[in-house]
Amino acid sequence: MFILVAGGAGFLGSWLCDLLIKDGHRVLCVDNLLSGRKINIEHLIYHKNFTFWQDDINSGTFVKKTAKLKTIDEIYHLASPASPNKNSPKSYMQYPIETLLVNSQGTYHLLELAKLKMAKFLYASSSEIYGEPLEHPQKETYFGNVNPNGPRSCYDEGKRFGEAMTFSYFRKYHTDARIVRIFNTYGPRMDVQDGRVVSNFIVSAIKNNPITVYGSGKQTRSFCYVSDLVDGLVKAMATEKTAGKVFNLGNDGEFSILELVEIIEKLLGTKLSRNFLPLAADDPTRRRPDLTRARELLSYNPKISLEEGLIKTIDYFKKTS
Ligand code: UDP
Repeated sequence: MFILVAGGAGFLGSWLCDLLIKDGHRVLCVDNLLSGRKINIEHLIYHKNFTFWQDDINSGTFVKKTAKLKTIDEIYHLASPASPNKNSPKSYMQYPIETLLVNSQGTYHLLELAKLKMAKFLYASSSEIYGEPLEHPQKETYFGNVNPNGPRSCYDEGKRFGEAMTFSYFRKYHTDARIVRIFNTYGPRMDVQDGRVVSNFIVSAIKNNPITVYGSGKQTRSFCYVSDLVDGLVKAMATEKTAGKVFNLGNDGEFSILELVEIIEKLLGTKLSRNFLPLAADDPTRRRPDLTRARELLSYNPKISLEEGLIKTIDYFKKTS
């Protein structure tokens, strides 16, 4: 198959490109490298089935170029900054307009393309659409509790708009489109500059720096190893009768941020000092996916435990940082 991966040079996108290439597909990876990185796809650049365009899915040139492609079988839309850390140079808070546009206009362009080429479409939404959840764990039927104009709203509302756009194409044009809501994912190729909790903690621990805990550290997250997550993406696209459906994807183990520090301490065999800093506005208190739907309909089953995944990730950061 010929598959377009928008955001293919990002952390998740590059793992997806790897899997699709391994499965024998031809992949067109499109990324404007705002938060994606060329280093993530360097090993694929000379592969005969891989093509990279440094391009912006919001642009008119992208629309013209892709309209000329003969066939597109599948489109994955993973293009968006995703880091909420306002101090990160790549945070969506540094690029709020771009974040809103890639999830609105960008989604529109890709859905028009899917309609034109009769391609299957997958929109990568986020657990962020649940905001500060009043339901726990979060099921796909939960509408969320989102601040529409807070500092995270460019991402949260961007993703909610993208979902509405995707379902509008499904309803109006019967586009073969589905949505996945991705929960916290970690693993090799995370960008240290993103300032996500797993990469921050591991890199600080390796360098013997204090661990920066925001707030009390009692807030919880569910951490999914990246290979499990991309397996879910491919299953959501490939499984019959997934058009017009939403799936939570992630891992349903739930850990507080302080528990995460303790696990990293155990794995590294060191005691780490904690530096408690103020919690950012609208930082969700609890987050855990209800994976019943993905398990039942996609046979999705995340296999890598947090300890196993952290060992692989620690190895990666020891080699690269
Ligand atoms: N966090 C932290 N220290 C860090 C980075 C993040 O305590 O150095 C916290 C953050 O406040 C949040 C959780 O860890 O409560 C997860 O943050 P992340 O940025 O990884 O993703 P989010 O789930 O908030 O999108």
